Amino acid sequence: MAILLIEDEEGIRTFVRRGLEAAGYQVLVASDGIDGLTMAVSDDVDLVVLDLGLPGLPGEEVLTRLRQRRPGVPVIVLTAKDAVADRVANLEAGADDYVVKPFSFSELLARVRARLRHTGQLRSDTIAVGGLVLDLAARTVSVDGKVTDLSAREFELLETFARNAGNVLSQVQLLDRVWGYDFDGSSNVVEVYVGHLRRKIGSARIQTVRGAGYRLVEP
Ligand code: CA
Repeated sequence: MAILLIEDEEGIRTFVRRGLEAAGYQVLVASDGIDGLTMAVSDDVDLVVLDLGLPGLPGEEVLTRLRQRRPGVPVIVLTAKDAVADRVANLEAGADDYVVKPFSFSELLARVRARLRHTGQLRSDTIAVGGLVLDLAARTVSVDGKVTDLSAREFELLETFARNAGNVLSQVQLLDRVWGYDFDGSSNVVEVYVGHLRRKIGSARIQTVRGAGYRLVEP
């Protein structure tokens, strides 16, 4: 599955690209509206994430022209404007969904998945690590065959661990991927959620690596 990200702010571009790649998507990037439109029309992309405030060609114009040439490709708009009128205008111009900045990566990822599922292109994906199986479409997890309830955030955290099974993820990386780039809390939220996961999936599955972070292992 290939996703085209059209965004001029380098920080957001890098953050979203990394997250989508970690979630298993192929990511193409464009930093202005003209390149973005060219790529959206000519390249084999399954979904477009489109910032509205773009140099070259405004996002609204990219959307209108893209709709004329490729009406079927799903588009998720990133917008800093939270006004209802803007949202309605975007949807009328052909956006399938929108995410208001600042957003957390998990929020964007949920929208991306929902869109791809909606267009019938998402395969029923699973990730297995030892006796732990995550069903990414159903958002359920089973441990040695027994289904365990996780909150949405716990699932995102476990999925991030599972996609990097065996590798150490630092607290900063986990905050970045699961809670969003603008998370500025100095709380122990990662530690707390790792604690939740350990209780639910077995404490031996998530190792603490002193001074470095955590990693998911096969017990
Ligand atoms: Ca922008």
